[in-house]
Amino acid sequence: MSKKVLILPGDGIGPEISTEVDKVLALVNQQYSLGLELDHALVGGAAIDAAGSAFPEQTWQKCQSADAILLACVGGPKWDSLPPKERPEIGGLLQIRSRLELFGNLRPAILYPQLAAASSLKPELVSGLDILIVRELTGGIYFGQPRGIRVKEDGTREGYNTYVYDENEIRRIGKVAFETAMKRNKKLCSVDKANVLEVTMLWREIMDEMSSDYPEVELSHMYVDNAAMQLIRAPKQFDVIVTGNMFGDILSDAAAMLTGSIGMLPSASLDINGKGMYEPCHGSAPDIAGQGIANPLAMILSASMMLRHSLGMQDVADKIEQAVESVLDQGLRTADIYSEGTTKVSTSEMGDAVVAALQA
Ligand code: NAD
Repeated sequence: MSKKVLILPGDGIGPEISTEVDKVLALVNQQYSLGLELDHALVGGAAIDAAGSAFPEQTWQKCQSADAILLACVGGPKWDSLPPKERPEIGGLLQIRSRLELFGNLRPAILYPQLAAASSLKPELVSGLDILIVRELTGGIYFGQPRGIRVKEDGTREGYNTYVYDENEIRRIGKVAFETAMKRNKKLCSVDKANVLEVTMLWREIMDEMSSDYPEVELSHMYVDNAAMQLIRAPKQFDVIVTGNMFGDILSDAAAMLTGSIGMLPSASLDINGKGMYEPCHGSAPDIAGQGIANPLAMILSASMMLRHSLGMQDVADKIEQAVESVLDQGLRTADIYSEGTTKVSTSEMGDAVVAALQA
């Protein structure tokens, strides 16, 4: 049976890295007769320019009928002066995530041994690093109402957001986290700010309640400021981390740097039935867009996560991951992961090398 995959190239480096994923998916589709129907649609700034909205109706319809979605990245200075709700990030990305109810964001931070030199930490602190951050994605302060910028009676402007989670939202992400921990080393650290924020006091209470259903999982709690410090001090103490939307956003970027580059990190955003949108952890990198130097591996690894988690094609996912390992073994590096003694390659050369490794 054919499976519909929708690719959303988005903005900035998005189209460049999507081209490389197109090559990889076209090859494995043919090599392994996967029956993937690959389609593309506009989102973000590109969609604003072409269709007047960051998330056009046609894209929404394609998202609904797709079996899985692969999104590159959205945003850029060109659209930063638009009203917040119309911007690529809020009007496009947050809209897709919330309309598809993609509440469970899985962000692995794995250090490939070949990239130990590209990590910002000493090799002994990061070698063998394999952390999974489970981030709540459709609630918390990024979505809470009311929000806005208003003028107070004395004429001063005031910005405000609302940090809110109800217990069902916390249980839903807690279930993903406990079940993920069960499949790994059975260690779960829940990150909150329960010393000052009531919303996260409830978060901690619910995680404690849930832990009795998962007696094999060792649950611990950590305040987010300490978690940020521990990630830099001794990252290998963590296995699975579960946290809310904003803390997860920040901690997963910090974890990204431990692995050498944010350009290496894929992510999955899943709904309650496991349908998902897969995306690199990075943004649209306007500082390097159009130069052909972006690292396409996070997006290629997002495609392999998609094959594994939403399309049941584990073997092909393994092949893609092995191909990525193989190009790293060959010493090929885009600029973000380059170190002395390796060979610097462009975005398209990196994509071609993955394709060649798959054909080998
Ligand atoms: P960013 O992730 O785009 O870039 C941070 C740094 O990492 C930059 O120096 C960039 O060059 C580098 N980088 C990122 N991806 C890379 C890759 N694949 N290869 C090599 N280097 C890479 O974050 P930012 O600068 O904070 O945001 C830029 C834009 O992206 C903003 O408009 C922001 O709103 C948007 N954004 C979008 C997403 C998303 O689409 N999921 C996520 C974060 C930021």
